[in-house]
Amino acid sequence: MEEPVNFETNAIRAQIERTDYREHSVPLYLTSSFVFADAEQARALFADEVPGNIYTRFSNPNNTEFIDKLCLLEGTEDGIATASGMAAMYCSMAALLKSGDHILASRSVFGSTHQILTALFPRFGIAHTYVDIALPETWEAMIQPNTKMIFVETPSNPALDIIDLAWLGKLAGKHNLILNVDNCFATPYLQNPAKWGAHLVTHSATKFIDGQGRVIGGAILGKKELIKEIRFFARHTGPSMSPFNAWVLSKSLETLAVRMEKHCENALTVANYLEKHAEVEYVKYPFLASHRNVDLAKKQMRLGGGVLTFEVKGGIERGRRFLNSLNMISHSANLGDTRTIATHPASTTHSKLSNEERAVVGITPGLIRVSVGLENVNDIVNDIAQALSKSKE
Ligand SMILES: *Cc1c(COP(=O)(O)O)cnc(C)c1O
Repeated sequence: MEEPVNFETNAIRAQIERTDYREHSVPLYLTSSFVFADAEQARALFADEVPGNIYTRFSNPNNTEFIDKLCLLEGTEDGIATASGMAAMYCSMAALLKSGDHILASRSVFGSTHQILTALFPRFGIAHTYVDIALPETWEAMIQPNTKMIFVETPSNPALDIIDLAWLGKLAGKHNLILNVDNCFATPYLQNPAKWGAHLVTHSATKFIDGQGRVIGGAILGKKELIKEIRFFARHTGPSMSPFNAWVLSKSLETLAVRMEKHCENALTVANYLEKHAEVEYVKYPFLASHRNVDLAKKQMRLGGGVLTFEVKGGIERGRRFLNSLNMISHSANLGDTRTIATHPASTTHSKLSNEERAVVGITPGLIRVSVGLENVNDIVNDIAQALSKSKE
């Protein structure tokens, strides 16, 4: 085949060489170690003089196959697969930073990323400053002499804030900072941060990349020289992905494009429905005309994604009643599944924060996050409709 081929084709056809069995689908290599042909090969492998597998904590054919394909889809030079999304976030920062360094981060980041920045890194002398997504003009002034990295999530979870990646890529370049983008909500099908200047692209593969609620996984993709340092860190600290999960996730990538098309189509339909509903205060979805950064979202994303949020009238109690009234839609902490999932951050994931703290990250009392699945969209809308009506009293 002539290079380059399109996204869908790469996701299906990029494959490591077949074995002598001429298998059509990638086989699963459940082995913790690999044998050496002779003492000289063992020496050369350990000396990094020849490529090859030694031990699955370092590398495994399934992990390599998954990550090489993901690199092709994201447009990055190199990458490593990790046991979870959080292992990816943690290693992408910890491997490159040292005591005395500083990170500039968007305030609206995943809960565990927030814990790494605020509760764990200070122990190791790594500081952070949160910037306001609505005030990008203030960011440059917050860069300190010891700032090494900018970390952002776009769209963010659960606020669905959109950050201008082209602008951020230029800012990072100008100040020689590593730009690290958590691309979990968009997936490589909707957005490629490396194209806009991101040096690292991090993923929770647990979400839309798996897309079927089966495995936990993560990935760090980016510039060769940065991945080299992260690979050293990961090899010796051990957050490697299970080959079984890599095998599952590689198969998942084959259907990522069709799944994301449908997730986005269904999400837009649900968002439009909710926006007209009398019991709904507001709806947030990157491709709705009412989103503050809709033009930016349309510039850097192919479609609006599979997640939306809305504020049900009646505050915290109404939010809880709404979830208890759902028939089909799952009440679960995951997202990016074939099954539609609803959560109420104010009474669950963000219940330990005060109203004021929640407001800062865009979580209003009746906020419902919906990860729109692949069921028939009429059934999704009908379930939301009956739950809105039932939770009224
Ligand atoms: C879920 C999530 C993570 C963490 O991923 P795990 O696979 O659960 O460890 C990180 N970032 C975002 C945006 C997420 O939604």
